Amino acid sequence: YKKMIVGIDLGTTNSLVGVYQDGQVKLLPNAFGEYLTPSVVALDDNDEIIVGKIAKERLVTHPDRTLSQFKRFMGTKHELVLGNRTYKAEELSSFVIRKLVDDAESFLGEKVEEVIVSVPAYFNDAQRYATKLAGQFAGVKIERIINEPSAAALAKKSMSNQEDQSFVVVDFGGGTLDISVVELFDNVVEIVSIAGDNRLGGEDFTAAIAEEFLTSNHLSRKSISREFYSKILVQAEKAKLNLNINEEVQMLVMDQEKEYSLDLTYQRFYELCQPLLARLKSVLDRALRDARYSYVSSENFVLVGGTSKLRLVQDFLSYCIDQAVQLTDDPDKMIAKGCALLAGIKGRQGEVRDLLLSDICPFTLGTSVVGDRFSPIIERNSPLPTSKKEHYYTAELGQSQVRVEVYQGEMMKASQNLFLGELEVPVPVNHEVNEGLTIRFTYDLNGILDVEVTIDSTQEVFNHVILQESITLTEEEIKEKQAELTRYKINAQETEVYRFLIEKANRVYSMLLGRRRDELMAETRRFEEEVKQASMYHLPKLYQSFSNYLEFLERGL
Ligand code: ADP
Ligand code: MG
Repeated sequence: YKKMIVGIDLGTTNSLVGVYQDGQVKLLPNAFGEYLTPSVVALDDNDEIIVGKIAKERLVTHPDRTLSQFKRFMGTKHELVLGNRTYKAEELSSFVIRKLVDDAESFLGEKVEEVIVSVPAYFNDAQRYATKLAGQFAGVKIERIINEPSAAALAKKSMSNQEDQSFVVVDFGGGTLDISVVELFDNVVEIVSIAGDNRLGGEDFTAAIAEEFLTSNHLSRKSISREFYSKILVQAEKAKLNLNINEEVQMLVMDQEKEYSLDLTYQRFYELCQPLLARLKSVLDRALRDARYSYVSSENFVLVGGTSKLRLVQDFLSYCIDQAVQLTDDPDKMIAKGCALLAGIKGRQGEVRDLLLSDICPFTLGTSVVGDRFSPIIERNSPLPTSKKEHYYTAELGQSQVRVEVYQGEMMKASQNLFLGELEVPVPVNHEVNEGLTIRFTYDLNGILDVEVTIDSTQEVFNHVILQESITLTEEEIKEKQAELTRYKINAQETEVYRFLIEKANRVYSMLLGRRRDELMAETRRFEEEVKQASMYHLPKLYQSFSNYLEFLERGL
């Protein structure tokens, strides 16, 4: 008996699912035959939750009932409004996980028992915990959380049969940038350093184009409707992709019978993105500095994530290291492949060699001392598992208690870091000298922190495991969240394509004018009628021809 475990790349923009089967990694397609499922959640007209490509279509037509990019709020208290309810990022992510698992199950014809999910290396404890909750809400067990660069390195290692190597994994996604130095030797994958910016991604390059569009048309975001801005973003995204192959592109957007345009050259695009590229450079420098690398060759680079496909990014990285950086594999699928590979290792299937994963602690853990100062105990980028101790004294003579507060973060002031928990320890009352105590932090591979305090004079030991009680939910609360999933209707896969086409027709309609609108409406009606009458055998052809028609209209926009 083999457990069915799938690997999931739960991205800010797109998510993927894969398995390890018959001795190899297989990514699993959704109902559209595509590997990338947009991480977008929407409420449809019947108040049911829809996820993926259909939901993405509705971003333009129903911006108030659609949410995307919510991974940015993972692990925070921030709530996002959808219809007449608010959701936290982990709840929205649970819908995405459920959707991927459903698609995987219908493709495999088998029940998925466990999942492995990747997270940006820079995710802190709260964000990792939120990801685990998302799995729980979705009704699947998250077997393991893996850092995205570890997954990419695993995939890379399995594809090339090269000798031991060190890699600079540049993961540039839709909303986050992570750069990690990863070393591979024997069966060990070791992350040597990580640096990141979880507020920088492909969407920012799109937004930079949108901004230029607004400025040159004397518009501002405040003065235009959300619908208009959504339309601008759709066209800006197209322009961005076009600039990969063209030196100059033209962007056209219609709003209320008026046409707006922008001519954009690659050179100008490069200029507009200078601030973004400067941030990319500073993250790269930090990753290399932390790894104590003074030289890297282009062969060491592994480009991962959709934004790595941007010519601008490749050109800029080449300029940074003074050598041509090239794409070899499919950047936006590397992490998912790594997750699937790990799923294979975990399921102990076939010939996958057992790889040891050595990880690092991506943030500093410490305690507070007098005056709200932060005193680090485990430093950022320490290899895991790790155990470190520091020695402290009571602040005052005659003190009978010491409160050991535990924080994670990189700020000088303790209170500005993330508070993880605390431990009250009695100390012998001593009016002569300050009592000494040793605090030991032990952090394991699963992100569980054990705090141990030893009093010098008595050698008494106090222990505390940090479980993040503030964000731990009761059984009941978890049941409640799972019940929420029943509102998410799993669309039969064949009707999903149909619904997508109707949503797309709506979006294209909103961008057209006059006679072409009437035409599209008539065509859509006819399509709906034909689908009702058609046999299963004819449906795919009908879908295809209507899809071609929409594509044709869209190209003319
Ligand atoms: P995430 O990891 O955030 O889910 P992805 O790795 O899927 O995201 O990357 C999505 C981003 O990649 C989007 O911003 C998209 O515009 C960008 N992208 C996808 N394909 C290309 C391409 N060919 N050229 C440039 N950017 C691309
Ligand atoms: Mg990604």
